[in-house]
Amino acid sequence: MGEFTIKIIKQLKDNYSYILQSKNNVNVIVIDPSDASKHISYLNDNNLIIESIFLTHHHTDHTSGVLDLINKFPSAKVFSPNKKIVGTTNFIKNGDLIKTSINEFEVSSTPGHTLDHIILYDKINSLLFSGDTLFRLGCGRIFEGTLEQMYSSLEKINRYPDNTEVYCGHEYTMNNLIFLENLFSDNKNLKKLKKEIEGNDCTIPFKLGLEKENNPFLNQSSQYYENFKKKYEFTNFELFKFVREKKDQF
Ligand code: ZN
Ligand code: FE
Repeated sequence: MGEFTIKIIKQLKDNYSYILQSKNNVNVIVIDPSDASKHISYLNDNNLIIESIFLTHHHTDHTSGVLDLINKFPSAKVFSPNKKIVGTTNFIKNGDLIKTSINEFEVSSTPGHTLDHIILYDKINSLLFSGDTLFRLGCGRIFEGTLEQMYSSLEKINRYPDNTEVYCGHEYTMNNLIFLENLFSDNKNLKKLKKEIEGNDCTIPFKLGLEKENNPFLNQSSQYYENFKKKYEFTNFELFKFVREKKDQF
């Protein structure tokens, strides 16, 4: 293991894929590729080789680049939580610890958005790749799981340390912020955040600690949301459900 950098690869309209690049060797790790062309030109220009590809869930906007990448880099292993994803060489599941030549990932299952969804946590480097489970100021839409499943998946993330740097699957931040401002119009933190974020076309990575303060999907126990729950006599889960259902209609 050694030092590495994280290159953000913008994909499609608002997707993020990532390249973890070692400072000591030519190996890289790719996360959630949808359009392989950007990866391939970057890797060719820098004489890099894909050691492994990690996938967070089966949706095509996170996986459609896999075949093109393994065509170019046939030795690449594909770690995925769903054997049906074409190209999968290594099935990963909750609790797995995957050592790469660059780092080590703890795999955690986070059903809700999809049933196969996993997140990747690098404890030593305080990094989390959250896919479509946690977004900045939002969370994934619930397509396959239940509200309860999504809630406990987010609770898992809430237990990671505040200094964790989160890299998520989409750039949805401004839209999420506008939604929250609408619903929680007297939340001054959101106004402050808006000033900071306005004009940035890339708002990731973000610190999990800040997210715990502001994201009502992730944490219902920060001061503002505590007061809100009291007013409406909501439990944590009820607040989560309320916000998720409002977001679905937004
Ligand atoms: Zn998705
Ligand atoms: Fe997605």
